[in-house]
Amino acid sequence: MNKPPLTIRMHERDNVAIVANDGGLDVGTVLSDGLVLVDRVPQGHKVALVDISDGAPVLRYGIPIGHALKTIPAGSWVHERLLQMPAARGLEGLPISTVKALALPPLQGYTFEGFRNADGSVGTRNILAITQTVQCVAGVTDFAVKRIKAELLPRYPNVDDVVSLEHGYGCGVAIDAPDAVVPIRTLRNISLNPNFGGEVMVVSLGCEKLQPERLLPPGSFAIADERKPEGSALDVVCLQDDAHVGFMSMVDSIVRQADTHLQRLNQRRRETVPASELVVGVQCGGSDAFSGVTANPAVGFCTDLLVRVGASVMFSETTEVRDGIDQLTSRATTPEVARRMIEEMAWYDSYLQRGSADRSANTTPGNKKGGLSNIVEKAMGSIVKSGSAPISHVLAPGEKLKHKGLTYAATPASDFICGTLQLAAGMNLHVFTTGRGTPYGLAAVPVIKVATRSDLARRWHDLMDINAGTITDGTATIEDVGWQLFHLMLDVASGRKKTWAEQWKLHNALVLFNPAPVT
Ligand code: CA
Repeated sequence: MNKPPLTIRMHERDNVAIVANDGGLDVGTVLSDGLVLVDRVPQGHKVALVDISDGAPVLRYGIPIGHALKTIPAGSWVHERLLQMPAARGLEGLPISTVKALALPPLQGYTFEGFRNADGSVGTRNILAITQTVQCVAGVTDFAVKRIKAELLPRYPNVDDVVSLEHGYGCGVAIDAPDAVVPIRTLRNISLNPNFGGEVMVVSLGCEKLQPERLLPPGSFAIADERKPEGSALDVVCLQDDAHVGFMSMVDSIVRQADTHLQRLNQRRRETVPASELVVGVQCGGSDAFSGVTANPAVGFCTDLLVRVGASVMFSETTEVRDGIDQLTSRATTPEVARRMIEEMAWYDSYLQRGSADRSANTTPGNKKGGLSNIVEKAMGSIVKSGSAPISHVLAPGEKLKHKGLTYAATPASDFICGTLQLAAGMNLHVFTTGRGTPYGLAAVPVIKVATRSDLARRWHDLMDINAGTITDGTATIEDVGWQLFHLMLDVASGRKKTWAEQWKLHNALVLFNPAPVT
């Protein structure tokens, strides 16, 4: 059955619209306003609504996403090869806290069932995490974790999982370089994620640069400290310890230590807590031109709901918001928040420059196939995940979030690195939108995946948790999908529902952001 041709224009100033129909539209198709396509236009790609002269701006979301490299007749397919990308917005003279945001009315009465921690934070899962100081111990830890899962976990029905915090850091790195603080604090703060119940347990090799006391100095893990006698040491299994004779004695040590932590974790029970205890990280990956039309606006609406219930919500992905920096600084609650955002953007600009790259390195072949011509167009669609609430805090990569409301957590856009840094910030629930499709998941927190298109949701029916394609199908509004996501979040946070990634136990590796040199 052929559906009538449908195009979506985002802003009244726009001189392009995107094609919504599955499979795209053929040359000669007559649009509802009488415009005839002079090219075949794939789904998600742009069609010129008027003649666009050589050098004129191509407008989407009401802003120039590029300038025409030659005259583009009305009805043409407007692809990335016809566009010159605009230069990046400078970081001087930005509008600072100019938007007087309408106070969003508080939402009350929403709760979920969570695991309350000694430090007041709340977990959505009850997981034993085994921290590692260095990659060298990963194989031994993995071997031990398999045994723990097979032999111990069945005895502790209130514990959801055992997770090995494997990573590539710890030795062979310039550990005193100024930027080494980023991977080190990331790893420290991940060990203290609310889903791990304060049961910090470390496996160390012994000779590595990142010594356990450097990773988790006394006082940095207050939760576990409280339960232990004054001055007691961090719980570390050191593989090079003289007491270990043979591989199995190392494994036995890890299994034995894990057992004491599992016993305590197993005593925990879910209790009713206000929805304000949610700490949500939002990000996107494998984006297409619908990301900014369906899934991301629905997530943005849900972001506003989270702010209204008093929860913490983070958006990230520096290269994907860099082109909308003026929108962000104008939404900052104070000039200080705006200044911190500009600082993070400037740091990232120079980080990219050091590697002889710029923000245009972000877009992928898949993004372009999905209709996104360049990073400017991608950023305009990405930034809407942040909704409309004032931005009240800024977090540097790997820092721990301590505030409610909407925070800009500066991270690379790389899915695994962004997810890893949001975990370190203390995220207890993750929302991930995708247009091209990715089976992304994390072992430490539930990841709710939102598809931008019904075609993806249909084909990946057992990987996508929510279909925002219903918005372009005309069967749901942005608000409907935002509410649907909000209610699903409460169910997933409570353990009443599992995400598809949890069902299949799909998870990606932790990938630390290490801007410092390796040796
Ligand atoms: Ca991403």
